[in-house]
Order: sequence, then C-alpha cells, then structure tokens
Amino acid sequence: MKRVHNFSAGPAALPTEVLKQAQSELLDYQGSGTSIMEMSHRGKYYTEVNEQAQDRLKRILGLGDDFHVVFLQGGASLQFMQVAMNFLSPDEIADYINTGAWSTKAIKEAQRFGKINEAFSSKGSNFNRVPTDSELSLSEDAKFVHFTSNNTIFGTQFATEPNTNGVPLVCDASSDFLSRPIDINKYGLIYAGAQKNLGPSGVAVVIIRKEFLAKQNKSDIPTILDYRTHTEKLFHTPPTFTIYLVNLVLKWVEEKGGLSYFEKLNTQKAELLYSTIDADDFYRGTAEVASRSKMNVTFRLPSEELEAQFLAEAEQADLVALKGHRSVGGIRASIYNACTLESVQALTTFMESFKAKNS
Ligand SMILES: *Cc1c(COP(=O)(O)O)cnc(C)c1O
Repeated sequence: MKRVHNFSAGPAALPTEVLKQAQSELLDYQGSGTSIMEMSHRGKYYTEVNEQAQDRLKRILGLGDDFHVVFLQGGASLQFMQVAMNFLSPDEIADYINTGAWSTKAIKEAQRFGKINEAFSSKGSNFNRVPTDSELSLSEDAKFVHFTSNNTIFGTQFATEPNTNGVPLVCDASSDFLSRPIDINKYGLIYAGAQKNLGPSGVAVVIIRKEFLAKQNKSDIPTILDYRTHTEKLFHTPPTFTIYLVNLVLKWVEEKGGLSYFEKLNTQKAELLYSTIDADDFYRGTAEVASRSKMNVTFRLPSEELEAQFLAEAEQADLVALKGHRSVGGIRASIYNACTLESVQALTTFMESFKAKNS
C-alpha cells in the first residue's frame, strides 16, 4: 500500500490515524455487529456519535450554551441561499465582502431574498487580495456582514475578522475551519463544508448564535430549509457515515492540541512554502503578500510549459493534486490541517531541485 503526499483542494486529505480507526471499526462498530452506516440514526450508537461531534466542536471552539451546532446536507453551496432565506426579507440589507468565486456565488443566491450591498470587491485584480477594514463600505442598517474567511481558489485569507462595528458576521469558513482560533464573539453564524478541513464530503457544519437565530421570524420557509427545524431536533436522516468521520477528525484535532496547535503548525507549513516561493523570481506567488492564505498556496512558474512539466514530475515523486484552479492557473498546494509538515518539506525539496534543473 502507498499513501502519497496529497495537496488536494477538496475533497482533501484526511488524517491517516482517522482512516485507520474507521477501517478498524468498519465491520463491527463497538461490538454492535454492524458498521455505523447500517444502523438507525436514532439508535444509541449513532446518537452518541452525533452528540460527541457537537460537544467536541463546542470544546474546540470554546462555544458556550449560547450556540447551536448542526450538521446539514447540501454543502456550503446550500448555505449560500439558506442563510439569506432565513435571515433576509426583500426590504432588508446585508453587506457581502466579495473576495472570490465562492463569495460571488453567495452574493448571487442572497440577492434572491434581500438587498445585498457589495461592501468590497477585489474582482478588478482577479481576487488577489482581501480588504483592509478601511476599504469596507458597510451599510448603516445591515442585518449581517458576510465574508469568506479563506479563498480556496485564489489563495487569499483574512488574517483576522473584518471590523463591522458590532454587526454580526456570517462566515463561509469552508476552507479554513478549525485551522486557527477565531473570536467567536463577532459571529452570528459560521458555515463550512466538511470536505476541506473537517472530514469527507456530504455535510456542512453550521454554528448559529442562539440570539441571532431568535431574531429570525419568517414563517414562509420550507421546513427542511428553516434552521429552527434542525436546532430543535434531529429532523431527518443525516449523512451518518460522514458525521461519524467528522467526529473522528474532531477527536484527532483535540488529541493533537486543538486550534493553537494547528495555528502553529499551519503557520510553519505556510512559511516554509512561501519562503521557497520568494527565494528568487523562478516561483511567483499570485496573492498579495499581506493577503496570503495559510491553507491554499497559489503560485506560478516562468511559463505554462514549465508548469505542466512541474505537475508531471511532481506526480512521479508522489506529490499529487497540485494543479491550480483553471481561473488562476499555475500551481496550488492545499495544506489543510491533515497535510503534514513532512509533506510540505517533500514539496519544497522537490521545488528546489526542479528550479535548479530548469532555471
Ligand atoms: C469548497 C468551497 C465551497 C463549496 O462547497 P460545497 O460543499 O461543494 O458546496 C464554498 N465555499 C468555500 C470557501 C469553499 O472552499
């Protein structure tokens, strides 16, 4: 068996320890005689998994009882419309910070439900940066401010939450969720598709401040799309195997040392990679330095021919899934929590030798 150095942007690499545990209990989950996939979502085994996952998330993020944690289907993309459908009426305003393809999609869906003020856009420079606070043109009366904490495609990330003067933040944290501590006091709602930093595809975690949800008083929302349906009880069959794996990833996050451990490790990995890129002008980062992501590192080589050769030779060296998104081109190394320092070292060693041979 071989395991390669996997730099996939998503679905992304999972911790080997997690896969091994899932493998070891696949056929017989804790003496039940079945796998966790083959039993009721209302029985004692799965109920425990679901509660453990919620409790672990609360512990890891330091959430009190003033937050709901739910696991919903439809991915982050469903959240684009579900947030707006629940929290906006046609005469109400929300501010959206446009820092990439995912923000753009979130805006498009939200416009169906309320008035959207684009408080900032870096589209003119192909989304190579995120704004400073002074660049935001926020509305007087926004219900919330939506931002994408990490821009998976363009390799940019907010270093810290944008300042909204107290207006609750709604965040698409799909590609940097649990990669570092956050200031939870600033958030009304956070959503993240699992398949980047949290588990396999099939579920989005949604964290909702109870006080924020209490202000929601719309009565015309289809039952399954109303957040209150899911915060009150387990409404329907969840993707049980996905949530089981999310729970194992959360256990792994806690055992490793939580968010401060991952912040340190992720910073170390990103610094190693960016210092290799910045050594001279053979490699060229595509994001502005102050906006660089610690999760998705995007860069170009002197020519597209060299990029193709780089990708082919990297694959032969077991460094896989490094091709950049087609809208940016070049190379993208996604180095989420489960990507080890050893994998990043293997990549930078390869980059050094590729440069020596081709420059
Ligand atoms: C991947 C991604 C999405 C889309 O997630 P789906 O689960 O495929 O809908 C949305 N936002 C960000 C920031 C992402 O990285």
